[in-house]
Amino acid sequence: MTTEELLDIDRNHIWHPYTSISNPLCVFPVEKAEGAIITLCDGRKLVDGMSSWWAAVHGYNHPVLNKAAQDQLSKMSHIMFGGLTHEPAAQLAEKILSIVHPSLSKIFFCDSGSVSVEVALKMAIQYWFSLGKKEKNKFVTIRSGYHGDTWNAMSVCDPVTGMHGIFGNALPIQFFVSEPKTRYGDNWDDEDISELRETLEKHHHEIAALILEPVVQGAGGMRFYSPRYLVEARKLCDKYDVLLIFDEIATGFGRTGTLFAWEHCGIAPDIMCIGKALTGGYMTLAATLANDKVAEGISNGYPGVFMHGPTFMGNPLACAVAAASIDLLLSSNWKANVKRIEAQLQQELSKAEAIEGVQEVRVLGAIGVVEMKEPVTMSDIQPMFVEEGIWVRPFGKLVYLMPPFICSEAEITKLTSGVINVISRYLASK
Ligand SMILES: *Cc1c(COP(=O)(O)O)cnc(C)c1O
Repeated sequence: MTTEELLDIDRNHIWHPYTSISNPLCVFPVEKAEGAIITLCDGRKLVDGMSSWWAAVHGYNHPVLNKAAQDQLSKMSHIMFGGLTHEPAAQLAEKILSIVHPSLSKIFFCDSGSVSVEVALKMAIQYWFSLGKKEKNKFVTIRSGYHGDTWNAMSVCDPVTGMHGIFGNALPIQFFVSEPKTRYGDNWDDEDISELRETLEKHHHEIAALILEPVVQGAGGMRFYSPRYLVEARKLCDKYDVLLIFDEIATGFGRTGTLFAWEHCGIAPDIMCIGKALTGGYMTLAATLANDKVAEGISNGYPGVFMHGPTFMGNPLACAVAAASIDLLLSSNWKANVKRIEAQLQQELSKAEAIEGVQEVRVLGAIGVVEMKEPVTMSDIQPMFVEEGIWVRPFGKLVYLMPPFICSEAEITKLTSGVINVISRYLASK
């Protein structure tokens, strides 16, 4: 197939994320990817600044992950999980449970991040159902959050920037409180928790759980907030008998400088979602973890079984790659790498603050955000990044970098200087 034929089929028939099918944005055909380099079909090479949406922490085409996939492929790529089990799932469960909060002891494997959020919400509802509290069937969350694109995950995304404007009438109504105002590293202001306190005080009898992304709010606004909020939220959840769900799909596996973001505050959720970097970006796999309280609560009541079971649950190929990816991460010097990237992003990206039209630059772990004063136009700015030899995909006012941890110093510099060049050129062209 020629590149022209590929693009023709793509343009006429294939939906891309959040784009028009009749008037699509341009797409760039990829030939291959290795390490932190994406090679386009026309031969151009781009340094990857996105890790394929937080996932490819080890870079692409990694020999260790390739081998894990090949070894498993020669045994079986998939087998149903109903009534059968296998070593890749057991190995992966053991590895995951050894690196999360020790109170989380049960694991449910699912297909994608959004599904793991659906599963978490269902666990919370079923827990209270089992205890005879059917009226506890709503959720409370903080604004500016993002939890996925499926039905109930959508209902707990930010009600303004999320999809409530379109689907609102069809979505279950949830409780929203202001996002934490105290930023990461700033002094805690107790006023920050008052809205959550008031909401729980008033509505706890109908709330099953509080769901939020700990410390870093990702696709809902790339905000970094005080871990103290989570400590206070945990106290309130205990006081008002509401479960606490951490969505660590974006923050998991080292991105924020700790293996998981809960480590910034040290408190444990009742339920936790992981995904994205779980397989090192190789394929889709997610998981929902629960503590004994939730697991036993669900098991001891009616119907006594947890009501979810996707076709590709515990996919052996994905589990084998995920297990290898966790080993690879733990045996690498990921912490030093993330620290090194953090320092470099801080130093080099902060120069963008001098640009008129830039609101703020903020960095945490291997996440660098340049917030613009106005939303950028994707169709104008996207080709500029490619011309600059870097792969960056902004949204709204946010131009951000989330490079693979294996990026060299030179590759990070290419990304940061490229972002600054593109922003300057883009603003000058307006
Ligand atoms: C990406 C993301 C999801 C959804 O995961 P998918 O695999 O895209 O369904 C949910 N929550 C958070 C915090 C995410 O970043």
